[in-house]
Amino acid sequence: MTVESPCYLDHNATAPLRPQAAQAMASVFAQYGNPSSVHSFGRAARRIVEDARRHVAALVSARPEDVVFTSGGTEANNLALRGAGRARILVSAVEHPSVLEAADGIETITVDKYGVVDLDALTRMLAEDDAPALVSVMLANNETGVIQPVAPAAAWAREHGALVHCDAVQAAGRIPLDMAGLGVDLLTLSAHKLGGPKGVGALIVGDDVTLSPLLRGGGQERGRRAGTENVSGIAGFGAAAAAALSEIEQARDLAVLRDSLEEGLLRNIPGVRVVGAGIARIPNTSCIALPGVSAETQVMALDLAGFAVSAGSACSSGKVKASHVLQAMGLTEEIAGCAIRVSLGRGNIEADIDAFVAAYREFASRARTSAA
Ligand code: PLP
Repeated sequence: MTVESPCYLDHNATAPLRPQAAQAMASVFAQYGNPSSVHSFGRAARRIVEDARRHVAALVSARPEDVVFTSGGTEANNLALRGAGRARILVSAVEHPSVLEAADGIETITVDKYGVVDLDALTRMLAEDDAPALVSVMLANNETGVIQPVAPAAAWAREHGALVHCDAVQAAGRIPLDMAGLGVDLLTLSAHKLGGPKGVGALIVGDDVTLSPLLRGGGQERGRRAGTENVSGIAGFGAAAAAALSEIEQARDLAVLRDSLEEGLLRNIPGVRVVGAGIARIPNTSCIALPGVSAETQVMALDLAGFAVSAGSACSSGKVKASHVLQAMGLTEEIAGCAIRVSLGRGNIEADIDAFVAAYREFASRARTSAA
């Protein structure tokens, strides 16, 4: 098989739309009923929304009535952290900015060198102040793919009377998910990371949680999120969730490609480093550091060579800032500023990996020769 050019290796940024999602959305565009209307047009739209709700709930083994559709993962995280109305909010230091910056006064829990949340630190923080708390720990990190010990963290937190939220955006569709098994009260999903459309997501809200809505002025989503539902987006999300669930075993196979990519890079490129190796990760994500060559330079050179990957660092006000995730893991600026993320998905094949390793090898030797 030949490598498609350009080759997409950035599935954690967004995944290609699944054909099932595109089809579901296309069929909804012709139906313009408002799901809140009582007439037949409205009832048809309501059926579409409720079918999708069942599929999204099934992906995480939750009850359909616990699903609150939102405009994406960012809104769902904001709704969880602010809507729960807890006096203290404790989040792991490696969370997505939509968790870290969702409210004022958020306290961060340290992580170890793998980026795994420190459960002793969490216990200490909970014990030192008994104000009602919400704890938020993501399931899989978007930059490294490292999987967090959410179930034990949730058990500790609940023992101290805290509510627990989990951002499962990068885990959904990549590893099996069971909300009750994780023991969390609130769980965030985003459609576009699992082959659905952008601009739609969900917060799964456990039975006993009282949530104040962020958006007010309508009774939609059982009073938890006002506004006419994004019916076509929700239909696409439902179809993508159903497809992702039916292919969850195949998603595991990406680990074979990921391992072959990492072995190829480590074997062929002196000094290259895999961040987060040696600990449980979702099967599709590799965080690769090439010390001495900035992440931005790598991403641009690889783009020219026909490979779409992303930097583990963010650009702010013209300056490249090393990733907060890698810094929280204790990596030096030199490594953290030189790390890229390669994230695989459906459609990637062994030939993509071989071609990527060859291109990266050539680029690394060129970059180092010109730096010497
Ligand atoms: N949480 C994580 C871990 C993410 O990776 C992202 C997106 O990159 C989000 C939340 C935000 O999701 P959305 O793009 O749907 O707002």
